[in-house]
Amino acid sequence: MAVNYKALTEATAVEYVKKNLDIFSEEAALQCKEIGDGNLNLVFRVWEEASEKSIILKQALPYARIVGEAMPVTLERARIESEALMLQGELCPNLTPKVYRFDRDLYLIVMEDLSDHIILRKGLIEGNEYPNFAENIGVFMAYTLFFTSDLGMDQMKKKQMQKKFINPELCKITEDLVFSEPYFDAAGNKIEPHLLDRVRKNWNNQELIKEVAILKEGFMTKAQALIHGDLHTGSVFVTEESTKVIDPEFAFYGPMGFDIGAIIGNFILNYIAQAAHMEEDQQKLESYRSYLLKSIKKIWKEFYKNFMELWEDNVTAPMESNLLYKQVYMRNLFEDTLGYAGCKMIRRIYGLAHVADIDNIKELEQRKKAQLLALDIGEILVLQRKEIKNIDEVVDRIKAFN
Ligand code: ADP
Ligand code: MG
Ligand code: MG
Ligand code: MG
Repeated sequence: MAVNYKALTEATAVEYVKKNLDIFSEEAALQCKEIGDGNLNLVFRVWEEASEKSIILKQALPYARIVGEAMPVTLERARIESEALMLQGELCPNLTPKVYRFDRDLYLIVMEDLSDHIILRKGLIEGNEYPNFAENIGVFMAYTLFFTSDLGMDQMKKKQMQKKFINPELCKITEDLVFSEPYFDAAGNKIEPHLLDRVRKNWNNQELIKEVAILKEGFMTKAQALIHGDLHTGSVFVTEESTKVIDPEFAFYGPMGFDIGAIIGNFILNYIAQAAHMEEDQQKLESYRSYLLKSIKKIWKEFYKNFMELWEDNVTAPMESNLLYKQVYMRNLFEDTLGYAGCKMIRRIYGLAHVADIDNIKELEQRKKAQLLALDIGEILVLQRKEIKNIDEVVDRIKAFN
């Protein structure tokens, strides 16, 4: 480990800010709280009551917080995260937190405090609507993916970028947790007893395992663009107007569909969970579900529209301007998106890391119903991604489960 590394505490985080940053005045009375709720890192909020100024310090731990010291994870991820955040911020001003500093000794990112925003997953569980989100995330994905791909950047530079963003340990976590472990009786899986029979079906489903293996191979070999790598609804901060994408520590050169699929898969999980959360108010349920389904369509359509415009405006090479090639490219991307969305849904039901949308359903029968539905829809997305014609059909298929 780095010699000068030391995990901060609330007290030493304040000392750090006083010593190293000139955001607050010398005599400022600083307060600090560790607010991390993720699976991996420490997150400190440091603020001064009087001036209402505040700042976030995110520090990598040498192990995964969700498991403890038994699961070491490289500190390098903080460097990757800070560089990805800055690059995404250049490509999409206003859609990421501002990064003020990266401390290479402490593997610490100092960034803008977004506490006036809410984590999208929480907001969706509460039943809030975010009218700008689908468009914003469509733009975010189109710009970050296009301009880091061979279409949108110099091919030599792209290869340098690949080198900078090689992220083997974090990729291995995804390979294990998303793709491998849900398909055998792995020790890390967290399987509720009432799901055991259904889970065993997945372990014996050779067709499903083959298709997930193909998607996993794509994840490991398709260096298409610098992807965020962990773009679930817990990695997005929102208000009614604003969208900010955080936490790109899993960034690496991978398949674009992994990001798009992450967002869409997590929207579907929330859709499924709402039947229980909004059980008391069927009218609200109906209208909220329709909002979620519209969002799913819009996320893909906004991504598609923006990506195609960037392609049109930025690519002049005859081969890459070929219309048939564009069609095949976008079709493959759509199939990847569905496949990865399905994988992400399945692993959240009985893999190591679940989602609150589903786990918060207190009543066992309701939770079970939601879990089974998520597994069924996830499986359809993986197995039928080549037959599903378009995003409207995805939504129709989901609706058909009513
Ligand atoms: P992890 O990599 O451990 O998942 P995240 O970057 O997702 O860490 O952050 C964990 C939590 O810390 C977030 O869910 C959010 O509550 C809080 N957080 C992270 N970044 C910020 C920020 N810039 N402003 C305010 N809160 C933040
Ligand atoms: Mg996170
Ligand atoms: Mg993270
Ligand atoms: Mg144009």
